[in-house]
Amino acid sequence: VASTESELIERYFNGLGASRADVRLGIGDDAALVQVPPEDELVLTTDSLVEGVHFLAGAPARSLGHRALAINLSDIAAMGASPAWALLSLNLPSAEEAWLREFALGFGALAQRHSVALVGGNLSRGALAITVQLAGLVPRGQGLRRTGAASDDDLYVSGSLGDAAGGLACLRGQLALPASDAQFLLQRFEYPEPRVALGLALRGVASACIDVSDGLYADATRLLKAAGAGARIEIGQLPVSAALRAAHGSNAWRAALAGGEDYELCFSAPRARAAAVSAAAAQAGCAVTRIGTLVQSEGIALHSGNSLIQFSPSGFDHFRD
Ligand SMILES: [Mg+2]
Repeated sequence: VASTESELIERYFNGLGASRADVRLGIGDDAALVQVPPEDELVLTTDSLVEGVHFLAGAPARSLGHRALAINLSDIAAMGASPAWALLSLNLPSAEEAWLREFALGFGALAQRHSVALVGGNLSRGALAITVQLAGLVPRGQGLRRTGAASDDDLYVSGSLGDAAGGLACLRGQLALPASDAQFLLQRFEYPEPRVALGLALRGVASACIDVSDGLYADATRLLKAAGAGARIEIGQLPVSAALRAAHGSNAWRAALAGGEDYELCFSAPRARAAAVSAAAAQAGCAVTRIGTLVQSEGIALHSGNSLIQFSPSGFDHFRD
């Protein structure tokens, strides 16, 4: 006998993630009840993964559970907020229990690590699609935004760039690499680590912040537009992993600028706060690299020393979905 929707939710999703004292009522009623501290603001975000659009058919369920939460955690991280409560809406062609078990393992492990409680969900039949809504908390007025960068601020990025796109290219058979390099890139694509601790440490330090989901060039452009400014970026400063360098050699910087789905943070800070940025990176246990400086003229000017480098972001489109 096939399980009902409520039986499946009870079996795989009830109690998933962290247990939080501020959850008054979780899965099982018509809606969840949570307690919001009066001194905080609620931070809300949602994002979906759709088969054929955001992932390939046959993608491992555990990775999808991880990524569906990670892409939302990354948005909460970019706001400098603490993640708290998640809602999950799953469209499945059929209720395959092995798939659900794996999905819940991936989602649950990441939720645990970030103190997120799954407080509600919905299962329906349809083409495979996963939507997560995530709520977080930030002390009133302290949330980071895309706006706020100023001319002469330094521009930074966390981690390394282009790895996830490299992993996807490996999956598609577009990149042939030694197994250890391919494995590293694939891990970065299937199990991205949202920079929640860094976002928290950057409160009061960064002047503006955005997460890198569509590639550094596209997302940095959004931050710069919000500031009404441009940037001079030194291509030699772009953080590139050894595996990506093995894949692209001296062109790795192009992959770093264009590649999507890295879920790193791109942020600005006044030069006078450079030491505070280093302290935030150390506190979060996360590499942070200064890649350039904001300037008054619009757009991104790429430099290699004194030479200006041409780059069209669409020139690397074979990496994109
Ligand atoms: Mg975002």
